[in-house]
Amino acid sequence: MATTTIINPATGKKVAEYQRIDVSEAKQKVAQSKNTFDSWKKLSYDERATYMRKLAKVFEKNKETYAQLATQEMGKTITQARKEMDKCILIINYYADNIHTLLDNENVKTEATKSYVTFMPIGVILAVMPWNFPFYQVIRFAAPALMAGNTGVLKHASNVQGSAFALEEAFREAGFPEGAFTNLNISAGNVKDIIEDKNIVAVTLTGSDPAGRSVASIAGQNLKKTVLELGGSDAYVILDDADLEQATDLATFGRLQNNGQTCVAAKRFVVLDAIYDQFLKLYTEKMEAAKMGDPTDESTYYGPMARLDLRDEIHEQVNKTISQGGKLVLGGNVPEGEGAYYPATILADLKPGMEAFDNELFGPVASVIRAKDEAEAIELANNSQFGLGSGVITGNKERGEKVALQLEAGSSFVNKLVVSDPRLPFGGIKNSGYGRELSGYGIREFVNTKSIWID
Ligand code: NDP
Repeated sequence: MATTTIINPATGKKVAEYQRIDVSEAKQKVAQSKNTFDSWKKLSYDERATYMRKLAKVFEKNKETYAQLATQEMGKTITQARKEMDKCILIINYYADNIHTLLDNENVKTEATKSYVTFMPIGVILAVMPWNFPFYQVIRFAAPALMAGNTGVLKHASNVQGSAFALEEAFREAGFPEGAFTNLNISAGNVKDIIEDKNIVAVTLTGSDPAGRSVASIAGQNLKKTVLELGGSDAYVILDDADLEQATDLATFGRLQNNGQTCVAAKRFVVLDAIYDQFLKLYTEKMEAAKMGDPTDESTYYGPMARLDLRDEIHEQVNKTISQGGKLVLGGNVPEGEGAYYPATILADLKPGMEAFDNELFGPVASVIRAKDEAEAIELANNSQFGLGSGVITGNKERGEKVALQLEAGSSFVNKLVVSDPRLPFGGIKNSGYGRELSGYGIREFVNTKSIWID
């Protein structure tokens, strides 16, 4: 049987090896999940919330272990890994505490004696998940899906299988029935067979554009619903009245958080001409000062990328952009030594048609773009195949709001980096995907919104 080998991207050393399961074993697990669904769906919201609160407690107890595991498997800094676990706890408790507000029946006044909308669970949901937030991405799916009465099977990224099994164990430790949440250590190539399994009713995927297209087309052939959260190349418009200290602080953290590998990270900075040179100078100083290094060291600002192939890919994108006329202001070199490290890099004077303008750069590389005025800045920000998150940095909140409303994205934040919040929907438009996660919008993606009429 094939195995999955986990390599620590900070050291290049092997962390662990996990046995893959084949399609028939995976299908047995899906069948067990369906059996569990048949009883799980009958529990009341309050009963399910009790399980969820226990899960939050398990996360609190194991927070440090999970954080260390995430750091070891994909290289995020330990300080950010701990924050990831806090976010998981927040989401789990949010759905346990708010389930009645989010999913209680809605009475509708009609000519009927009684008519209402009820939200029924639909079955076993397949989640195909990425490595960049190995715990949070999964909880963002699982907490609402299970609270709504569904069960879940996980195809996690190959390089974070330790986290995947730790998640499965967390649900077990919290007392969830066997099969409520199951890890399937299968290859990406076997996902098709699982989507086609009669017991799978819907699929959610977070990851790259090609993976999203493949999963959505197979699910479409089988008339199964999908939610896709794909990449982004989020534009942040820096207006001429922005506080440059604030703007460059946000741009530095925004681009380097999670070692540059966040779907909603600030990636393209569209800066008004009047402040462009000052912004670039201050931004370069701050990006240069950010400490790259061992992710287990609490003083490290950013660690390695998650895999060597991803590091090599981004280096190629940087070189391509330079060959197309982009200006390399900082970084851009592959460091000597072990690990998938890539330094904070700034590419400036970018134009449509250049690699770093048109495509997502999933690593610590910032793209800086000059705009002659606000109107051109909005046009350049929207000149993208993606539309996940975006931002506006300005000294005038009203002006910021007006610009935010014109940006083509699932979220637009003024004077703050886009972050997910369980109270607000999260997702994209264009090639960033469709559907929403989190909040009431997220939990209603995987339910049968059913009308009841009593004449
Ligand atoms: P992928 O999209 O390849 O991986 C995400 C998940 O999808 C993994 O579980 C992967 O499995 C699985 N997968 C990959 N291809 C298929 C397929 N054809 N059918 C079914 N499942 C599939 O991301 P990568 O790790 O290769 O990262 C590449 C790029 O993806 C990044 O540079 C970034 O642009 C984007 N990305 C975006 C993320 C986001 O949060 N929006 C998160 C991570 C990546 P396996 O690991 O076994 O291949």
